[in-house]
Amino acid sequence: MRKKIHILAMGGTIAGRAGDSAATTGYQAGAVGVEELIAAVPQLAEAAEVSGEQLAAIDSKDITAAEQLLLVKRVRELLLSGAVDGIVVTHGTDTMEESAYLLDLLHFADKPVVLTGAMRPATALSADGPLNLLDAVRTAASEEARDRGVLVVLNNAIHSAHLVTKVSTTAVETFQSPNGGAVGAVNDGEVVFFQSPQLHHLPNALSVSEALTVRGKLPYVPIFYGHSDDDGTLIPMALEKGAKGIVYAGMGNGSIPARAEEKLAAAVRAGIPVIRASSSVYGMVTKAEASYEQAGFAAGGLLNPRKARLLLQVAVCGGLSPAEWQKFLA
Ligand code: ASP
Repeated sequence: MRKKIHILAMGGTIAGRAGDSAATTGYQAGAVGVEELIAAVPQLAEAAEVSGEQLAAIDSKDITAAEQLLLVKRVRELLLSGAVDGIVVTHGTDTMEESAYLLDLLHFADKPVVLTGAMRPATALSADGPLNLLDAVRTAASEEARDRGVLVVLNNAIHSAHLVTKVSTTAVETFQSPNGGAVGAVNDGEVVFFQSPQLHHLPNALSVSEALTVRGKLPYVPIFYGHSDDDGTLIPMALEKGAKGIVYAGMGNGSIPARAEEKLAAAVRAGIPVIRASSSVYGMVTKAEASYEQAGFAAGGLLNPRKARLLLQVAVCGGLSPAEWQKFLA
């Protein structure tokens, strides 16, 4: 029996329209509707019983917490309804890893949720969107993909939401998982997994998901990007503006210049959690300096700064204890 796969369209380059088919930049993201995206790939009908729904039509650089939570809510409703076997989300690539990670933290079902997008607009020569959409639907319809959390499928590769990141500004192979590699591939329609992703679902994911979507917004958690001569001037200002957590994208192993470190330590003393992440792409952020431990900073592990930010936002809203949210920094 064909699997029922529902496509939730958010916009992005996969739905982009350009005046010139040779143009891969300067297009309007989110201009092509979900029905048109589905109609462009007749092979979808062989892969699954596909339906579509337009949830947003945005360039994902502009996504807000309200739209991310709308996506969370709709995915939850569909999974709870039992009406679908899997979900595909078409999404802009700029923030795909963030929406994927948020959905993964809040995932509570064994059914697959797969995000996909494109680097070239739908109207481009050699557009990558149609095959990415087909591969995403094939993955969502695959028995193999069950119980593997939220996945990102582009360029024939399957990545976990936890480790995937966009590494290239324009290349079609932009999604990579530098600290573990892809978890699988779609080879001419065959969905193959090489390894099981580490599952990053909150133990009480369903109730936290409900609480977040009722609230409809996420708390202010800024990211500060470490650099030479950083004195952390903006850190106290963020606290005055009501920051509920801070992520410091440090250098190398989450290194923080001493003057910024003092201000972050003051934030922790005031009850604001701080995660040390890294602007480097490879490697874990480990405990490193004793002073970081004394100050009470959490070492970001394999989470990149943008995902660490989402973890803190969810932790604060969901009322998670430090021990509960720090488990996700492995
Ligand atoms: N700016 C676009 C977006 O994130 C880029 C893309 O989809 O590739 O929506």
